[in-house]
Amino acid sequence: MITCPACDCANVYTVEDITHLQYGPHPDSVILVFIRPLRVCARCRLNFTDEAGERAQENAVKRYRTLLYSPPPDIRAWYEKNAHMLEHLSLFDVLTAWEEQRKRSITT
Ligand SMILES: [Zn+2]
Repeated sequence: MITCPACDCANVYTVEDITHLQYGPHPDSVILVFIRPLRVCARCRLNFTDEAGERAQENAVKRYRTLLYSPPPDIRAWYEKNAHMLEHLSLFDVLTAWEEQRKRSITT
């Protein structure tokens, strides 16, 4: 049972918060986009995250690192072929965009 840390109310509901996380050292950081469960207190309206939110973030980072170190071979090939047109995009950006695309095609 989740209770509100501010008012102790147990009437807490969850919304899906689309979170943009800047990840990695500047200037090579990327924006990871993931859905984080956000708890909302029905009484005092406090928004807060808990372990589920932390897990969602860890999973997003894990997914990204998996892609980073073992990108799908076709994406890497495509990137290498088109790199001259993508000079402002790193392979990381392309992978992030690819993952977004894949997520959309799963949900639609
Ligand atoms: Zn509350």
